[in-house]
Amino acid sequence: MLHPIVRFGAPGLHAPSQPVAAVTDETRRLIDDMLATMYAAPGVGLAAPQIGVPLRVCVIDLSVGKRDGEVMALINPEFLERDGMQLEEEGCLSVPGFNATVARPSRAVVRALDRDGREITVEGTGLLARALQHELDHLDGVLFLDRLRGIRRELMVRKIRRLQRKGRW
Ligand SMILES: [Zn+2]
Repeated sequence: MLHPIVRFGAPGLHAPSQPVAAVTDETRRLIDDMLATMYAAPGVGLAAPQIGVPLRVCVIDLSVGKRDGEVMALINPEFLERDGMQLEEEGCLSVPGFNATVARPSRAVVRALDRDGREITVEGTGLLARALQHELDHLDGVLFLDRLRGIRRELMVRKIRRLQRKGRW
């Protein structure tokens, strides 16, 4: 089932999400819905709070469904390692129309449960390290623009608020 993706300003997007207590069929249904919603958008990653579900679940597929074996669903993910630094342009399905260059680790190792409740470890560099950091941030209520330094965040928030007031966003 497709879900509407909530946008900047929706309370659940700016608050930490709760851990999944047990991986069940309900969790797997949530993951399937998140994947369908991500592919329809289309996007390379989606976190549960982006469809209004305050649980620590995210999905990533850098190929957007084009290549088998690239899709990952991460339940209760946490960083084991992060190092290096990369600067690349980044956007978010919850902040459509806005992009910014964000500093992220160039390598990340994450431990999580998969859709069967098995513990997995994912190591990513480059774009995958960026996606992991972006999606795990969502689970803590942090958006990419919160990672911008100084006036850059303030300017983007002002533009979003202006569009929201005009009903154009
Ligand atoms: Zn996002």
